[in-house]
Amino acid sequence: MKIAILSRNPRLYSTKSLFDAAEKRGHEVKVIDYLRCHMNISSGRPAIYLGDNKIEGYDAIIPRIGASNTFFGTAVVRQFEMMDVYPVNESVAISRSRDKLRSLQLLSRKGVGLPVTAFAHDTKATGHIIKLCNGAPLVIKLLEGTQGVGVVLAETTKAAESVIEAFRGLNSNILVQEFIKEAGGADIRCFVVGDKVVAAMKRQGKEGEFRSNLHRGGNATVVRITPEERSTAVRAAKIMGLGVAGVDLLRSNHGPVIMEVNSSPGLEGIEKATGKDVAALVIQHIEKNAKPGKTRTRGQG
Ligand code: ADP
Repeated sequence: MKIAILSRNPRLYSTKSLFDAAEKRGHEVKVIDYLRCHMNISSGRPAIYLGDNKIEGYDAIIPRIGASNTFFGTAVVRQFEMMDVYPVNESVAISRSRDKLRSLQLLSRKGVGLPVTAFAHDTKATGHIIKLCNGAPLVIKLLEGTQGVGVVLAETTKAAESVIEAFRGLNSNILVQEFIKEAGGADIRCFVVGDKVVAAMKRQGKEGEFRSNLHRGGNATVVRITPEERSTAVRAAKIMGLGVAGVDLLRSNHGPVIMEVNSSPGLEGIEKATGKDVAALVIQHIEKNAKPGKTRTRGQG
């Protein structure tokens, strides 16, 4: 098969790992910097170019679109879909997962476990929002944040009010969430491929830190997940429409609750913590599923 990895940097661990796995399994594979692509959007004859060269003949793409390039990156993925190339993750699914609020709404619609979450524009609603989330301590998040930046724990109602008002004063969109204290500063990353969790790790924040992000100094270890956690992660990925996803959940007193569903989950942490060849499993998933016409949306918005 001819597979393209849409990534800005061929030297990234995840990109390299997918490249090597595809090559080892006998495929022709290329890393394409999607920001250097341009597209011909004329009626009925979609095409993509890299410089003067037309990109054609691919059976599948693996989108690894950076959070800051979602707009252009998903347009490139959509263009491949219009050309009948199978994407591991479709453009609409990537866009959905990049919007925290939209993701939570979709998951809530299907009854997946979530922390109690509230969202508002008007700061006049602050008091009621705090009440909706059962009062302090509360977690307040910037909608645009990643890697734990813009995620704040407010221990008291007074602190919660100040943080909400400060963020709103900066005109940023925020959501407010009940604090899952019993998670103990740890979360579970479930790596979903197709309809299976193929690897799972527990990430523990460093001493005194409620955020478990590895970029913030957390550490990762292999973990056995429960059948309920397994089915919650698989359902979450399915609801978002993602073939490959990193589903983050917290262990709460009322069962697993979803934090986030990531459409370009990193491979380094999970492969090192679990010793599994996750990249090879992604390639096997492509081998099983990549056929022309297998894109559900075919580039539909
Ligand atoms: P980001 O997308 O920036 O990583 P998250 O929403 O995933 O932001 O939050 C970062 C980390 O903070 C989570 O992995 C989790 O460990 C912790 N956290 C976030 N929300 C809550 C919450 N409601 N209760 C307890 N811990 C939380």
